[in-house]
Amino acid sequence: MNRRNRSRYGLLLFVGVGVHLFDIGSGPFAWMALVLQFLVYPQVVYWRARHATDQRAAELGNLAVDATLLGVWAAALGFPVWITFIFLVSAIINMTVFRGRWGFIQAFAWATGGAGLAVLAGGLHFHPQTSWPVTLLCISAIAAYVFTVADSAYTRALQLHATREQLRASQQELLRQLAANTSLQEQLRDQANHDPLTGLYNRRYLDDNLARELIRCKREQQPLSLVLIDIDHFKQINDAYGHLAGDQVLKHLAAMLGAEVRGSDIACRYGGEEFLLMLPGLPQDVAHVRAEEWRSAFAASPITLGDGPVTVTWSAGIATFPANGATAEELFRAADNALYQAKRQGRNRVQLADPLESTLA
Ligand code: GH3
Ligand code: MG
Ligand code: MG
Repeated sequence: MNRRNRSRYGLLLFVGVGVHLFDIGSGPFAWMALVLQFLVYPQVVYWRARHATDQRAAELGNLAVDATLLGVWAAALGFPVWITFIFLVSAIINMTVFRGRWGFIQAFAWATGGAGLAVLAGGLHFHPQTSWPVTLLCISAIAAYVFTVADSAYTRALQLHATREQLRASQQELLRQLAANTSLQEQLRDQANHDPLTGLYNRRYLDDNLARELIRCKREQQPLSLVLIDIDHFKQINDAYGHLAGDQVLKHLAAMLGAEVRGSDIACRYGGEEFLLMLPGLPQDVAHVRAEEWRSAFAASPITLGDGPVTVTWSAGIATFPANGATAEELFRAADNALYQAKRQGRNRVQLADPLESTLA
């Protein structure tokens, strides 16, 4: 990942150190080492890092070798101040970019180690001076290098910013989808619990809630009344005015029942033209009075079907917990029997279920 930087910087160092070698009149061995170090070596380390399974570890190894060799060069040249300075600064920057403060210490240690080895091998020389062209080349090289590092930091910051933006956008998209899913789920739940024609709850919703309400009423020693309503001669309405008119009657009755029940009650469309009201806390006599009010109000408000107003009536059977049954099935059967009685007795009436012989608690 540092190939381009290392090659360019290698070239700059090659020129700078080359001019210095020329200034001090070095022999062919030094020139060969110069070519190997600053022109060939960057390509070799690139190749090494490229073929490594762990490229980051390989690059860190390369940087350690870089720092050591630059230390060797600095010592071999007699520590010319400018050359030593740019060697050390570049080695430190390289490793700090990878490993932070720890990289700084490592680069310093490797470079010092390399210099120490060179001093051990060839003795300590000290030639701090460089000619002004070499000084100028060193300044240019380090300035170019620092600029390159800063520029790549800027590019990375831009990439990071773009990645963050993408992340934020995809997070928002996820949240939007989540909200859409939640609302879809609510819609589905709503649809699953409601009758599409009348908008009242359906039988399934009532079945889900009745057993629970019964348990609660039993625990709190409260009554619970079921009012089973069936429209009288509904088939005749359909036959006389059409199925759509029949639907209109169903909606009319549903609207009335929906408006009458309290928050804790459940009004549901139980079947074709049958409605069931679950009235927790309501004793039979009160349920009877209220059902009578609803029945007479409905019978007294004709519905406009076809050419004119048509009077429609319904009959109802009422069963109350605990007098008429302890379970949902028992109560429903009792209410159904009462409804049957109401129909037999001439319709347009409300009939109470027969009390059970033994009182259920
Ligand atoms: P009864 O007084 O004995 O209750 O007589 P009825 O005609 O009301 O009873 P029956 O059970 O014979 O007829 C019920 C009719 O309800 C038959 C069916 O076509 C009609 N029905 C059921 N569901 C719907 C519906 O969603 N819309 C309409 N328009 N009619 C329906
Ligand atoms: Mg019926
Ligand atoms: Mg009917």
